[in-house]
Amino acid sequence: MQINFAVCDIHESLLLQGKKVTITFRDRTTEEQEDAFPCQDPHCHRYYSPWRGYFRAEVGEFPDFGVPSKKPQCRHNSEPVYMFLMRKDGVLAWACPECTVTQRFTL
Ligand SMILES: [Zn+2]
Ligand SMILES: [Zn+2]
Repeated sequence: MQINFAVCDIHESLLLQGKKVTITFRDRTTEEQEDAFPCQDPHCHRYYSPWRGYFRAEVGEFPDFGVPSKKPQCRHNSEPVYMFLMRKDGVLAWACPECTVTQRFTL
């Protein structure tokens, strides 16, 4: 499924921005960069990327990637691809950005 259907997992009616941004995180010892799609709400700190799933990040802080094994995922070449949320026939569903697999959304 195309990523431009993805919504924020907190603002379920807001699409993510269509363009990836590069976020730089630092803690005392490491510096890391992630490419991810931000929420359209400038005050929202949620991001999505196919290799991280949804996560929270704030400038100057190390991101909170949550528990990866608990995030809905699809496997491609034995690597997990994290699914995004979209509206399908009016209800929320998880969708894989790499194929057509979808999963029902449950809390
Ligand atoms: Zn949001
Ligand atoms: Zn897939």
